[in-house]
This record gives sequence, structure tokens and C-alpha cells, in this order.
Amino acid sequence: MSQAFGGRLREELDGFRRDRVYKSLNYLDSPQAARVLMEGRGEVVILSSNNYLGLCDMPEVVQAGKRALDRFGAGTGSVRFICGTFTIHRELEQALARFVGTEASLSYVSCWNANEGLMPTVLGEQDVVISDALNHASIIDSVRLCKAQRKVYPHSNMAALEELLKAHASARTRFIITDGVFSMEGDIARLPDIVELSRKYDAVVAVDDSHGTGVLGKHGRGAAEHHGMLGDIDIITSTLGKALGGAAGGFTAGSSELADYLTQRSRPQLFSNALPPTVAASALASVQHLEAHPELVTRLNDNAAYFRGRLAELGFKPIEGQTPIVPVILGETAKAIRMSELLLEQGVFVTGFGFPVVPKGEARLRCQISAAHSREDLDVALEAFAKTGRQLDLI
Ligand code: PLP
Repeated sequence: MSQAFGGRLREELDGFRRDRVYKSLNYLDSPQAARVLMEGRGEVVILSSNNYLGLCDMPEVVQAGKRALDRFGAGTGSVRFICGTFTIHRELEQALARFVGTEASLSYVSCWNANEGLMPTVLGEQDVVISDALNHASIIDSVRLCKAQRKVYPHSNMAALEELLKAHASARTRFIITDGVFSMEGDIARLPDIVELSRKYDAVVAVDDSHGTGVLGKHGRGAAEHHGMLGDIDIITSTLGKALGGAAGGFTAGSSELADYLTQRSRPQLFSNALPPTVAASALASVQHLEAHPELVTRLNDNAAYFRGRLAELGFKPIEGQTPIVPVILGETAKAIRMSELLLEQGVFVTGFGFPVVPKGEARLRCQISAAHSREDLDVALEAFAKTGRQLDLI
């Protein structure tokens, strides 16, 4: 390797350490459950997992993956249209479309991939893409890949969104893209207002519901169900790597024409392997389990409300909200990292986030609650929060 290149990487890594933004990986030796075995730490309660419904290690989800491994083998061999598509992909895509309330869906190896396979494919120079300022990194990068004009509106600011729609009335397509649930804040997109504006200005609405699928709405069908708007969202992208089994994978759901168009033109579909069949089978089992057990969503909401309420009673000020994402703002990045370390010493794993993931001065611990947590798990975590909060003069 070039010495200059290696030196530059080392220098920048040293800078990350100096600025205390260097990330160390924690290795786990057990499934993602309410408690995990962390190398060098033993058993810890995890408040940093997107395993919202506890399906990661549910026996029927794991068994479905094992059966698919025996039936279909380890991988897909290549690209779907070249070497064949497994029937498990069709089954999964039909189930996902039914679940989120659209005509069709198409799976990808991740939601990142689904986003990158969507906007650059369906938008061209004559179009405008209008994106919320707090959208996920995968949306930001996908928008950058687009040849369309790119516009950003301040977070959830409907007046600004309307101005942009008005200003681009002559574009061929106005394409609004928003997270369903904003991952660092835990707030929910204002879909009724967004859809109303889209109708007024003939725009397309796409929602990345990665933190909403399996979480929002009485049956976990996502942000659209939460708002009573199933069937009203033009395009939904989402992940299979959070509530729906937590393995990996993503999908784009919408009209049959959209799924067909993406099958023809979306570059990750044309030039990259499909979702491994084991993962497709586990995700399908997750959807089926959730359809049969909507009470998992109730348990998730009860747990989140309990944790949020008790945290506030202790004197913390979590960002208000209705989702299982409970961010506690601490200010400086170093403080968030310190608190995260102290919590880990007490057997509670919750990651601190600082700049550039969140704005300067708004470093936070993002707690994520799961239906898998027992009250005892949550109480262990709350006790550790109380102790570290006092230690750091936060409460
Ligand atoms: N979109 C949003 C809103 C997310 O929060 C995430 C993951 O954090 C992703 C996309 C990426 O999902 P995946 O892990 O399936 O690529």
C-alpha cells in the first residue's frame, strides 16, 4: 500500500481518538435478545438493539432460516434475473406487500440498498427530490446518487416543504422522501400533512419506515397504520434488519408497476446478489408471526411507555415521543461516551451518539426498548441510569 495513503489513514484515525469520536466494537457471543453475552463483560442488558419485537432469536424464526438453508442452500449464486429467483423471495415479497398495505414489493439485501436502488432509478434530470433534513444517511446518499434536482426542507417543516413543491411545479416529478420514524429523535413523520401536500402539488410520497415497520400501528404495520393511512403512501422502503427478525435485508413496496420497473432497472437488482434464502425465510416467518401475534406490539409500547415514564421520574429529560426510541440528550459527545462506559460497567449496553451523527452539543444516549425486555431488565437498566446520572451530576 502507498505509504502516504497509509499515513493519512493513521493520522485521521489518531484524530478520531483525540476528538473522542473513535468507535470501538463490542463483540457478542449470543443472539440479540434482551440480554446478551458481551466479550470481556459477561451478560449485559442491551438497550441498543433494533430487535424491537424480540424476533431475532424466536425459535420459529431461527428454524425457518435453518429449513431454508437445507432446502435452498447458502446463497443465491448471482443476480435474480440471470440465474433464477427463489420461490421464497416471491413468498416473502407477497407477504411484505400484504403487511404494509401495497400491491407489490421487491426485496433487497438491505434497506440501504433499497433506497439506493429506488431514487436514482425512478428519477432523472427533469425531476426534483425533496428530502427531510433529518432523513437517514442511506436516503442522503441515495439522493446524492440521483440526477434529479435535490432539495432539503428543515425537519418536519411543512411550510418549507410546500414552498419547495410550489417552486418546482414545472418539474416532471416531485418526489418527497421522508423517514417514517426519525432514528435519532424517535419522532414520527407528519404523514397526513405530507400526503395532503402531495395531492395538492401532484407529488409522489416515499417513506423509509425502517423504524416504523413492526413497531407503529396496532398491528405493527408501520407509520401508515399509525396515522390510519394504510394504502395512502405511494412508496414504502423498509428494513428486515430491525423488528422483522433483525437479520438483514430490506424492501421497496408500492404499486405493481413500481416493483416491475425496479425489477427491470434498479441497479442492485441487476448487478448484485439477492437476499440469501435463509434470511428471506426468517423474515417471512417474522412477518407471519407478527400477523398472528399483534400483542407483541402492545408489549413493546407498554415497555417503552414504562421506561420513558420511569426515566423522567428519575429526573432525566428524554425527548418526548411515542416510539421505542428514547433519546436522552447529554450535550457534549465526551459526556455521552463517558455515561455509556459507566453504564456498561454496570451491565447495561447503550451506545452514545455524538457529532457528526447528531448536531454539535446534542450528544445523546439512544435507548431502544424491545418487547423482549422484561420489567426486571428495564428496572436493572433504570437503576444503572439513576446511579450514573447521580455520578455525572445529571439528575
Ligand atoms: N433507513 C433507516 C431510516 C434506518 O434507520 C436504517 C438503519 O439504521 C436503514 C435505512 C438501513 O437499514 P439496513 O440496515 O437494512 O440497510
